[in-house]
Amino acid sequence: MGFDFLGLSEDLLSVVEESGYTTPTPIQAKAIPAILQGRDILGIAQTGTGKTASFTLPMIDILSEGRARARMPRSLILEPTRELATQVSESFEKYGKKSKLTMALLIGGVAFKDQEQKLDRGVDVLIATPGRLMDHMQRGKVMLNGVEILVVDEADRMLDMGFIPDVEKICKAMPQKIQSLFFSATMAKEIKRLTDKFLKDPKEIEVSAPASTAQTITQRLCKIQGGEKEKRVALRQLLDSETIKNAIVFCNRKSVVKIVKKSLMVHGYSVGELHGDMAQSIRTETLAGFKNNDIQILVASDVAARGLDIPDVSHVFNFEIPNNPEDYIHRVGRTGRAGREGNAFTLTSPSERKALGFLIKFLGKEIELHELPGQEAKPQRSSSKPASKTASNPVDKNREAPQAKKQQDEKRPIESRNSKPREEKPSPRHNQQKDQIAFGMTDQVPAFLLRDEPKKK
Ligand code: AMP
Repeated sequence: MGFDFLGLSEDLLSVVEESGYTTPTPIQAKAIPAILQGRDILGIAQTGTGKTASFTLPMIDILSEGRARARMPRSLILEPTRELATQVSESFEKYGKKSKLTMALLIGGVAFKDQEQKLDRGVDVLIATPGRLMDHMQRGKVMLNGVEILVVDEADRMLDMGFIPDVEKICKAMPQKIQSLFFSATMAKEIKRLTDKFLKDPKEIEVSAPASTAQTITQRLCKIQGGEKEKRVALRQLLDSETIKNAIVFCNRKSVVKIVKKSLMVHGYSVGELHGDMAQSIRTETLAGFKNNDIQILVASDVAARGLDIPDVSHVFNFEIPNNPEDYIHRVGRTGRAGREGNAFTLTSPSERKALGFLIKFLGKEIELHELPGQEAKPQRSSSKPASKTASNPVDKNREAPQAKKQQDEKRPIESRNSKPREEKPSPRHNQQKDQIAFGMTDQVPAFLLRDEPKKK
């Protein structure tokens, strides 16, 4: 079945065709006709399923009739993170290019003034993170009594981030008769309570089991004898032995993100960091650098794990077992997108035995072991991919293929590296080199970035 049977306008069908989509994804096939009929939706779907288009496309058609009034948006899309909100606004721009709809993006880390000016002119579509929206509401800059359609996206992520009370307050500020669309990868009790309260006879659409990863992703577990330092060595071994196009390295805490990023930088890798406490401009810049391959390795906290649509990530590395086993699915899901092959390596040390046990239980299966040189050999060798490959890194075609561990230490997947790295000790000389390759922040890390990540609720 093509898009023609879903009830979308000719304009939208032509935009969809230009986007290269020929067949609606399962959630699009089910949600679009129901939304066009005015029904509430409860979509149990992960990112990567095409859910953004499943709500943006029909919204564009529904909102094409009518006019926006100052400070009274006609629709509201709530997203848990600034990156997701930005991504959805990009989708609106792409799909809505033949419409005259106006849009505003209300996210933190950006000046209020521009956002207020847009609100004053009146917007059809408001895309916001809960915190910034509440700020604008409290300042009297936005009123929600003109909202006709509400989307709460990634509700489970909202829950993890402690946003549910804000979401509830925002829902209460809406008129009674609105169309509500809720999307969540899982249905925790708290989300069920919310949807029971705010959705009216919703059409329930479930498109993928939450505890599954794409078949195209090769998943491996590396047991590391030691702690964080040994893991950093192991990570470099993996980065050197795998054919890396680009990679995301996930850590559980911001403090570890910073240490791992700094360590990789000292060792000459092309690396950036992404976590919740960074200035928005630097987050956006870093993400753009990663998307256009200026940055090859992105070290990130879970803020980057869900939803980010970077179509072609070759490798994901879990520097630690995630605190929440579901985050494993989301992290690993950053690779192997849209049917591509992907690789996910999880590093684990003896102190994480309990967390590993939880993860295996959650996944319902073991993760195949991957041996690294220097790590205690298991009696039987796993049937996983060989520890080192001979193919050179596609990003740096001038590099020789790594052949032996000694040589591996001298190879880094970036062209700018020209000296042998030293073990974890930055020196002024290296800092100078860093300035050439650093993206975003260098050594001048502001104090606020060094604070510990707040505990998840
Ligand atoms: P999402 O789940 O909304 O993050 O979408 C994941 C990716 O799928 C995005 O890169 C979309 O551009 C892409 N996409 C959405 N709908 C389709 C479709 N019908 N056919 C092919 N790709 C799609």
